[in-house]
Amino acid sequence: GPILQASGLTKRYGGLVANSDINFSVNPGERRGIIGPNGAGKSTFFKMLTCEVVPTSGTITFEGNDITGKTVTDVCQLGLTKSYQVNQLFSRLTVRENLIIAVLAELRGKFRLDMFRRIDSVSGLTDQVNRTLAMVNLTERADVPVSELAYGEKRRLEIGLALANSPSLLLLDEPLAGMSPQERVETVKLLKSIAKGRTLIVIDHDMDSLFELVEKVTVLQEGRVLVEGTPEEIKSNP
Ligand code: ADP
Ligand code: ADP
Repeated sequence: GPILQASGLTKRYGGLVANSDINFSVNPGERRGIIGPNGAGKSTFFKMLTCEVVPTSGTITFEGNDITGKTVTDVCQLGLTKSYQVNQLFSRLTVRENLIIAVLAELRGKFRLDMFRRIDSVSGLTDQVNRTLAMVNLTERADVPVSELAYGEKRRLEIGLALANSPSLLLLDEPLAGMSPQERVETVKLLKSIAKGRTLIVIDHDMDSLFELVEKVTVLQEGRVLVEGTPEEIKSNP
C-alpha cells in the first residue's frame, strides 16, 4: 500500500479555506512533486503532512499509522522528516561538526534503537557522517566552517541534516530555491541518488527542475487538487 495517504484533508483559517477535501497518496520509493500558484495551499498542505499544522478535518496515515494530530517529533521518530528551506546551521562550526550534532540530536531526541546500535559501534558516528557527506557531495568541504560555504552548499548541508535521521520519507520545501542554474542541475542529480531506497515529496516553484526530479506531480489550485500526472502529462496539458 501507499507509504503516505491523506483523505479528505481540509484546513480552514476562520472563513478562509486553505485546503479543501484533498485526497493524496504516495507509494514507497516514489518521487512526487507538488506545484501550484501562490496561495494555492501548498505550504498548508505540506505542513499538515509534516504535522506542523493540524487539519480541520480529514486523516493522514504514514506507513499505515494514523498520524493525524501527532507532533513533529512523533512523526520524525517514525521516519518522516522535513528539510527546512531556511534551517539553522551553526555558521562558525564546520560542515562535519554540524552533521555530528544533527546525528546526535536525532539519536538523543528519539531513541531509535536501530540508529543507536549503528552509531554506538566502533567508528559508527564517523561512518554515518562520512556517508552523509558523500550523499550531499560535501566530502571535500567537510572541515570548512559553514560561514564560508556557497549558498548552494548550505542548502545541500540542510538536506544532509535531514538525512541524519535516516528518514524513509523525506519532505523538501523548495530545495532548489535561490540556486544558480548549475547548482540546480547538480542538486537534482544529488536528490535523485538520495531518493534511492526512500520516498521524496518536493515542493518547488521552478517547474523545469522539479519535472526533472519527480516521477509524478500533484497540482494544487485554490486549495484543491487540480490534476495529477507525470511531468510529461502535466506539461502537455497546461
Ligand atoms: P502556497 O504555499 O501555495 O502559497 P499557503 O498554504 O501558504 O499557499 O496559503 C493558502 C491560503 O491560506 C492563503 O490564502 C494564505 O494566506 C492562507 N493561510 C496560510 N497560512 C495561514 C495562517 N496561518 N493563517 C491564516 N491564513 C493562512
Ligand atoms: P511560504 O510560502 O514560503 O511558506 P509564507 O510567507 O506564505 O511562506 O508563510 C509564512 C508563514 O505565515 C507560514 O507559517 C504561513 O502558514 C503563515 N501565513 C501565511 N499566510 C497567512 C495569513 N494570511 N495569516 C496568517 N498567517 C499566514
